[in-house]
Amino acid sequence: MIKFLDLQRINKRYKTAFKNRFDHFLSEGYYILGSEVSRFETNYASYCNTQYCIGVANGLDALTLIFKAYIQLGKLSFGDSVLVPANTYIASILSIIISGLKPVFIEPDSETYNISPKLIKEAISSEVKAILVVHLYGQLAAMEELHKIADRHNLLVIEDAAQAHGAIDAKGQKAGSLSHAAAFSFYPSKNLGALGDAGAITTNDSVLADLIKKLRNYGSPKKYVNSVVGFNSRLDELQAAFLNLKLSNLDEDNAKRRSVAKQYLNGIKNIKIKLPYYSGTKDHVFHLFVVLVEDRNHFMTYLKDCSIESLIHYPIPPHKQEALISYRDLHLPLTEKIHQQLVSIPMSPVLKHEEVKSIIETLNAY
Ligand SMILES: *Cc1c(COP(=O)(O)O)cnc(C)c1O
Repeated sequence: MIKFLDLQRINKRYKTAFKNRFDHFLSEGYYILGSEVSRFETNYASYCNTQYCIGVANGLDALTLIFKAYIQLGKLSFGDSVLVPANTYIASILSIIISGLKPVFIEPDSETYNISPKLIKEAISSEVKAILVVHLYGQLAAMEELHKIADRHNLLVIEDAAQAHGAIDAKGQKAGSLSHAAAFSFYPSKNLGALGDAGAITTNDSVLADLIKKLRNYGSPKKYVNSVVGFNSRLDELQAAFLNLKLSNLDEDNAKRRSVAKQYLNGIKNIKIKLPYYSGTKDHVFHLFVVLVEDRNHFMTYLKDCSIESLIHYPIPPHKQEALISYRDLHLPLTEKIHQQLVSIPMSPVLKHEEVKSIIETLNAY
């Protein structure tokens, strides 16, 4: 069986380093917001080329804390509308709702599946105050076009970079540094994955960074002093230790993912399988490799019979989820079509050459 994502194989590479770091952690006896968290924050800000990084508990909290902080700072108000791609993981949309804001679902560009700048223009109204951009599947959204629109209408731009750690634009700028504030998830299956839940916010805004740093820790600027009503959403010290070790391999891992993607794009030739758009540059870190197939069930059964694991990201679009029932009648045909046809085939930095070859042959024989 070729696994969709072999997390054991990914993390086995760090076994000795993890164990040594754990021993150190255990003997230090400092378990919350210690030196590993601050080291990771420094390392990751430097990696993303932002001034600040604040470690938090997970990706959803990272997104939510950005919105809550902007509300406290008076840059957003309860009830403001936020443009968000309709075809994203539901967390992006939940963060808007949880913060007391209103999501406005935007259809994707038909080629890249990222939020369509053209449709953003059409959706702008006096209620819209921000755009939450998602770099879906690891591919940077059309940030230059988005910023032009946002600047014209004085909108905040926030990145959901949970699938795009290390993606770089044509000017050499990284995901996480392409907006006013960005949210990352280090969920185990992400390109930079912890061994549990973890997340972070990156920004160049010192006021925002300061407030989020307090918000994630009971609104506390220092021990037993609480200046704002905060939360408990701290990045776990042990997860930070693992992330510090894995961060140094992120670029290499992303390069391996791109290499697998290039082999797929060159090797898969089957009119029944629509391959994803790729610019050929480092603006894509292939968190996922998503193809469109009309008869998806048939295709996935075939892959399973050939011992190849595949998954659907995601089977139900957010506006068709029971949790978002008030949005169910929205007319989002492209989002719905994509959700009916997409299939993610194996993608990871630890796929072996023979496995990639066998996947390509299997897809060509379909
Ligand atoms: C994984 C993911 C999240 C949420 O991250 P968690 O750490 O699971 O909370 C948010 N947005 C996108 C696009 C994601 O892929």
